[in-house]
Amino acid sequence: LSLLNQIELAPPDKILGLTETFNNDQNPNKVNLTVGIYKDNFGKVTTFPSISKAQKLIDRELGLNKNLSYLPIKGGKDYAENVKNFLYDESCSSSDTTKNYGKDLLDNNRISFAQTLSGTGALAISAKFLSLFISKKVWIPNFSWANHMNIFNKNGFKSIYNYSYYDLKSGQLTVDKWLSDLRERVGQDKSDEPHCIILHACCHNPTGLDPTKDDWDKIINTINELRMVPVIDMAYQGLESGDLLKDAYVLRKCIDPKYVWDNGLFLCQSFAKNMGLYGERVGSLSIVSPAHSPSTVKLAVDSQLKRIIRSIYSSPPGYGSRVANLVLSDPALKSQWFKDVHGMVNRLQSIRDKLSYNLEWDTVNDEQQHGMFYFTRFSLPVVQELRDKYSIYLTDDGRLSLSGVNDSDIEYVCDTFRKIEQ
Ligand code: PLP
Repeated sequence: LSLLNQIELAPPDKILGLTETFNNDQNPNKVNLTVGIYKDNFGKVTTFPSISKAQKLIDRELGLNKNLSYLPIKGGKDYAENVKNFLYDESCSSSDTTKNYGKDLLDNNRISFAQTLSGTGALAISAKFLSLFISKKVWIPNFSWANHMNIFNKNGFKSIYNYSYYDLKSGQLTVDKWLSDLRERVGQDKSDEPHCIILHACCHNPTGLDPTKDDWDKIINTINELRMVPVIDMAYQGLESGDLLKDAYVLRKCIDPKYVWDNGLFLCQSFAKNMGLYGERVGSLSIVSPAHSPSTVKLAVDSQLKRIIRSIYSSPPGYGSRVANLVLSDPALKSQWFKDVHGMVNRLQSIRDKLSYNLEWDTVNDEQQHGMFYFTRFSLPVVQELRDKYSIYLTDDGRLSLSGVNDSDIEYVCDTFRKIEQ
């Protein structure tokens, strides 16, 4: 008897599975608003000017792709230096913090860093590391990106809890409930095993609503009091305000030395969206060790990180990280990149405005959302009807990828929404 016979069919991926259905749809009016990929007004996945220039330089002038040898397990040294500087120096020097605490972390060599297979890879390696050495308990917001549950569940986590993030009825965040959930459940857990918590750094997926700065202060105070382990998921840096540096508020706040994270602070960062490097899988994981820990701690963390990566995919791919590295290290390309992100965010906002105008949005919450998505709050039957009857594809939770709406489909989308809302 084969054990293979007992394997159950896994459900299709909640997001990527829909693209398969979309591709098979014969309706000429079909519109795919599912995946978080930025498309231009002609429905094309764009390559930013900064990225195109970097690609040309790499291919034609620098010949960087001539050497296709392995990268080191944790990625290239240059990439590590440039990304760490971008994240912990540039993104941490802002007028909303009195001091650049990130720079102190760099100067004091407290960051264990690895180039990862984009944000998903960073989250998966974090989950593996955490479940091996720190904890198998994690809190995920309700709602969240569906893959969070999947990643932690498949990488050793035994207990996965939801904290209350958003009220579907009112369309508002539920920060008080979130914190009282944690106080009640985590506060009363007397075991030594700490609880991890996933925080969306900005552009919360799928709701598009983030806590205010005051809210974040309360949230971070509470999770610190409860000795939780923050896992910051920063997949959309720059897509909230259009300003890459400004959007790292949660990181800046968490590394304020008034908070000591006894079990480390985890940052999972991605260049998929803000550089448009989706398929190249470029991102990073950093683990910040506490100020009081002996230097041997960082060495041990580094070494175990390496061992985990080696056991899964050995070393990261080269091309995309060379592109990101060049953009980060060349001042002209970098300033072009900042402009490119601004341009993308402006277009996303203009689509939001057009939808708002055409659909006569009146709720404050619709206007407040930001990022790549519009959270329609359509119920599952409505989402299914949109898909089956009109070939307009949203994710099951009613999330709509804004840049899929363009001049050629906006009328059809808005007419259909009006019809369906009646
Ligand atoms: N985290 C969130 C909340 C996301 O929405 C995404 C992508 O959709 C990711 C992480 C990771 O994306 P990637 O692995 O492409 O960097």
